[in-house]
Amino acid sequence: MRLVFLGPPGAGKGTIAERIHAVLSIPHISTGDLFRKAIHDETYLGKQVKEILDSGHLVPDELTTEMVKERLAEKDAEKGFILDGYPRTLPQADALNKFGHPERVVNFMIPEEIIITRLSGRRVCRKCHATYNIKTSPPGADGICDVCGGELYMREDDAPEKITKRLHVYADLTQPLIEYYRKSGLLMDFDTNRPVDILVPELATILKNDLG
Ligand code: AMP
Repeated sequence: MRLVFLGPPGAGKGTIAERIHAVLSIPHISTGDLFRKAIHDETYLGKQVKEILDSGHLVPDELTTEMVKERLAEKDAEKGFILDGYPRTLPQADALNKFGHPERVVNFMIPEEIIITRLSGRRVCRKCHATYNIKTSPPGADGICDVCGGELYMREDDAPEKITKRLHVYADLTQPLIEYYRKSGLLMDFDTNRPVDILVPELATILKNDLG
């Protein structure tokens, strides 16, 4: 199953991908996570992209596509994948068609005011990347991951002014992909303004019936 999760930041792509990938037996590949790992590990790529991520802008297409192409060539992606955060521009979508043509693109739909609440309250585990929300789904103990005991932090780009920037970038560069994929018949609209516990089994059932 070759899937793309498309939607604005804060729509729940990462949270749902993290929960659903095991059910579908395919890896969850998040370009944001790959970049953040490279930054954390201080690799050459990480040094190239750190300032871009902190600013809320997009990493250049070629650099991003090269990273995704390499990741999709790994063994665990042979049977399919969930791409979360890629493609984000029309050139990236064209490139993906050449090395990992998607079978279904899930369009995560969510009102903008909900996005702002979600992102400003988001906290992420440094170790296992589990996500929490201090208002809607807080951890048991302040600042500590329930899953692995790791330290929770607020992403640099979840600061209010960066959220606004990212939403503009989404509207300008990524939103056109909705029409792009609708025209090719691959798009599936999915309302994500509902509890995750409902969304995960619902989406898994739809995808299994559709493509399984
Ligand atoms: P995310 O975790 O998906 O919100 O991504 C965090 C940041 O990583 C974005 O704001 C961009 O700076 C960068 N990034 C992630 N995916 C892409 C992509 N497909 N193209 C360009 N930049 C990306």
